[in-house]
Amino acid sequence: MKINPINTNQGSYKGKIGNTGALVMKKELIFLGPPACGKGTQTNRLSEFLGLPHIDTGSLLRAEIAKESEEGKTAKSFIDKGLLVPVTLVAKIIKNKLASKECENGYVLDGFPRSLEQAQQLEEINKEVDGDKKASFKAIYFDIDPQILLERIIYRQSCPQCGEIYNKKFKPSKVEDECDKCHVPLKTRADDNAEVAKSRFDTYFEQTAPLVEFYEKKGVLTKLDAMGSIEEVWQRLLKIING
Ligand code: AMP
Repeated sequence: MKINPINTNQGSYKGKIGNTGALVMKKELIFLGPPACGKGTQTNRLSEFLGLPHIDTGSLLRAEIAKESEEGKTAKSFIDKGLLVPVTLVAKIIKNKLASKECENGYVLDGFPRSLEQAQQLEEINKEVDGDKKASFKAIYFDIDPQILLERIIYRQSCPQCGEIYNKKFKPSKVEDECDKCHVPLKTRADDNAEVAKSRFDTYFEQTAPLVEFYEKKGVLTKLDAMGSIEEVWQRLLKIING
């Protein structure tokens, strides 16, 4: 079995008594960074490694769109333009998730918060859900040169089953357009085109980037150098998580 230095329970993160006899504290991890900075790939892997749920607002919203729910219809009109979906809609989805049993030992939250208003909402949700339970909160910022990101977006593909992310140019699947693990056809996101991507970058710099300073002032932010290969970034991320 692979030895996981964090998860003393090995296999699944029960979050109760590890083999040290110590109580494992709830881990609340959030991730910031521009579109296509590598958060999706790394947080997917981290969630598996820690045995904590990967909560990804973009995927949750795309699932609502696929279901053709009222929320999905509203979300689509914003996502198609590269704009943030209204905070009330996202907060409702997130609150249900974070209050659910699967998050009782913590979460790997990817894509929320994306504005100061959402950051305040998250604080309220955590306060309400955690009560007097102790939790460790960390914000990890993927620091990367945005110049290289447009190509990552327009060549990006992902597996609809396992969420693995590929890139036709930089990380192609072994068989073209097919997931290496699940062998199902890969998908390209509707908003992964040059025009919408530009708008997503504008939205990021206007509304999400100020969160770096917000969390820095609170003393909970760690900057991760997100330039380099997936493996290099993963090793740096592990150091942060273990630190
Ligand atoms: P992502 O998969 O994280 O790149 O998100 C895709 C799109 O979903 C974004 O461009 C937004 O339109 C929408 N979205 C995702 N997360 C949020 C959020 N926290 N608040 C508002 N809109 C969001």
